[in-house]
Amino acid sequence: MNKGLEVARGKTKVLYENPGQPDVLVVQALDSITAGDGARRDEIPGKGRIAAKTTARVFRLLNMCGLPTHYLSGGEDDDDNEMIVRRCTMIPLEVVVRGVAAGSLVRRKPTIARGSLIVPRMVEFFFKDDANHDPLIEPDDIVAQGLASPQEIGIMSEVARITFEILAHAWRRHETVLVDLKIEFGRLVGGENRGNLVIADVIDNDSWRIWPQGREELMLDKQMYRNLETVTPEDLDRVRSNYEYVAELAGRFPTTRTTTAALFADGPQGVALLDPVLRALSPFGLQTLRRVVSTHVIPGYVVQAAQQLDATFPRTIYVASGPQLAAMLGAATPSPVFDATEYEADELAIAVGKTLALDDTVMFGRTLLVQANARSAILQADAQLNAPPHMPNTNLA
Ligand code: 5GP
Repeated sequence: MNKGLEVARGKTKVLYENPGQPDVLVVQALDSITAGDGARRDEIPGKGRIAAKTTARVFRLLNMCGLPTHYLSGGEDDDDNEMIVRRCTMIPLEVVVRGVAAGSLVRRKPTIARGSLIVPRMVEFFFKDDANHDPLIEPDDIVAQGLASPQEIGIMSEVARITFEILAHAWRRHETVLVDLKIEFGRLVGGENRGNLVIADVIDNDSWRIWPQGREELMLDKQMYRNLETVTPEDLDRVRSNYEYVAELAGRFPTTRTTTAALFADGPQGVALLDPVLRALSPFGLQTLRRVVSTHVIPGYVVQAAQQLDATFPRTIYVASGPQLAAMLGAATPSPVFDATEYEADELAIAVGKTLALDDTVMFGRTLLVQANARSAILQADAQLNAPPHMPNTNLA
């Protein structure tokens, strides 16, 4: 890839300018693996390529869910350890989400049993400072030191929690528990969303703890390298093959099954009733189609139309404009059927999302994001009642 000047260099990656595109950078992943804030360092040939693959796949999943990330393209080909990302100014914080107690948490809080579930998830901030071993930092101090505003801390916590839940869902589908996760944020330097927070840096097998079948001794992540007393070439081979396996599994994260939402109106007067549903479904990115049928005039056609769609599309969800039509469709098809008069349009769209989310991580993520934005809209409306005009928009995406 055509690269310009080096912009920054970390322990496991180098950032370059992208000639002619000032708002875009190239991230090159290196073959290094480090532990103890750089005290231990080894080279694993091919690790950069594997790390880029994992990061690209994770970011592509998050982008598909609608979360804001800096990732644009690249990193997934076999001969490619470079990604194209939007340029940001990094916030020097590591944002850690924990779903199971491990690592520095159980060292700091011995009363929390290692391996115990953490619900609700815990979000912690660490100040990036290798010389002082990335100390824990409280939100008050983040604000006092001018690292981020209270509003940005709120957004980082919420986005980090959603990211964790999406990746935990993706890993659960591989019978693996996501124990904890570290992400970093930056502020976009250009474009129409200039200044907005995005998930930046990398998210790869160095960034999380993952325990297949919930068993720590089967760990696939960087902790196995951190735990080594001495490092032999055989150890590095084992680390490499785990990293390769993780990249391969992550390849199955950013996939979604084509789903059709079929909106059935009971007579022409039912069509307008379905318009708000159509709008509410749009963040879920489903293929949608509308039909006008009639339970009174041509009941046989209702059944025929549904059976035709079931036979045509791999996965269909029906929304009926009223209870009679919903009952008729319910009997005609094995696919899920919703009655639009039973729900507000937004609730109905979330119910559809949840149904699909059971076995589809992208739909799971989109549902979480729609729910989070709905919460944020209520809180914002409440705050605006008493706030001065021109409140910033706190929507997550
Ligand atoms: P802990 O605070 O328990 O050591 O780590 C919590 C989570 O953050 C773990 O998933 C760990 O892998 C990740 N993490 C902590 N510090 C770093 C770091 O400096 N680099 C990376 N890549 N991950 C980290």
